[in-house]
Amino acid sequence: MKVEKQSNKGSTEQIVVVALGGNALENSDSPTADNQKKVIEASMTHIAELISVGMKVVLTHGNGPQVGRIGLQNEAAKEITPPMPFDVCGAMSQGMLGYHIQQALKGELNNRGIVSSGVSSLVTQVVVSPHDEAFNNPTKPIGPFYTKSEAEALERSKGYVMKEDSGRGFRRVIASPKPLEIVELATIKALLNENITVIAVGGGGVPVIKKGTTLDGVEAVIDKDFASAKLAENIDAHTLVILTEVEKVALNFGKENQKWLNTLTLQEVDEYTAQGHFAKGSMLPKVEACSAFVRSKKGRKALITSLSKVNEALRGETGTHIVS
Ligand code: ADP
Ligand code: MG
Repeated sequence: MKVEKQSNKGSTEQIVVVALGGNALENSDSPTADNQKKVIEASMTHIAELISVGMKVVLTHGNGPQVGRIGLQNEAAKEITPPMPFDVCGAMSQGMLGYHIQQALKGELNNRGIVSSGVSSLVTQVVVSPHDEAFNNPTKPIGPFYTKSEAEALERSKGYVMKEDSGRGFRRVIASPKPLEIVELATIKALLNENITVIAVGGGGVPVIKKGTTLDGVEAVIDKDFASAKLAENIDAHTLVILTEVEKVALNFGKENQKWLNTLTLQEVDEYTAQGHFAKGSMLPKVEACSAFVRSKKGRKALITSLSKVNEALRGETGTHIVS
């Protein structure tokens, strides 16, 4: 018999912000729509489990490979139809992934008889500062590889910043500014209050800058872990969960003396970061996002683990827990 879960309108049940990493979203060997749907369906069984035990979930997700492919499609078809700038591509990726996520999660909730819970993805804009120092030093590679002469031509014609990427050729690099404000925050809160699982700040959100009373998209990329921490703070979440490929964070990662960590105190985060244990651009932003969230208010919890272990980790059985 299927039991209809009561909707807990406006209740104070645990709010958990869950950030999904790339491998929860795509089959990188064959990134077809069918495969994206299948991978996301498998991922959503774990998320439905969280909801079925009574957590209020807000999902966030990365978009690196997907927005890269959208950019490539735009580039390849530019003689046929005008290519869209990077902020628009980011919004497209939120729609493309959000569509499959909301379809898969709703289906899985229906299978479990939790039919009162809605699921909805939100095109989310995140305000950044035009004076963010990241704009003086763009670091995030996007899009296809070019030869040196092609790269120089793009620098001249479009004003792109092009950098050599680990021996594979030249790529455009864009800035990764800090998230300041989530534009659709009130909408996210309203949906949560109506017991709707929200998918927000996909790919870190579409970066926008304020121009008087209006907003303007910028060609930049916000780190999805920082955007997730900002969102978790702003909706007063209890827990921030960052899901990635590893079950735990390690010291001396990938080395002979590698040591998996069950907990990381805020002080240890600072010490181990200074000692270089967390790789820039991969584990470091996750650890930094978690510590910022835990530091922001007493009682807030953060955790880094893999998707398949998320339920165990939230019961305290695995994962790396960032504690004050
Ligand atoms: P995602 O795409 O999920 O956001 P990334 O691939 O950017 O994640 O970062 C997670 C990866 O960081 C892990 O899969 C692991 O390979 C790597 N990594 C770097 N340093 C560490 C560390 N100290 N402990 C664990 N994993 C680490
Ligand atoms: Mg990755």
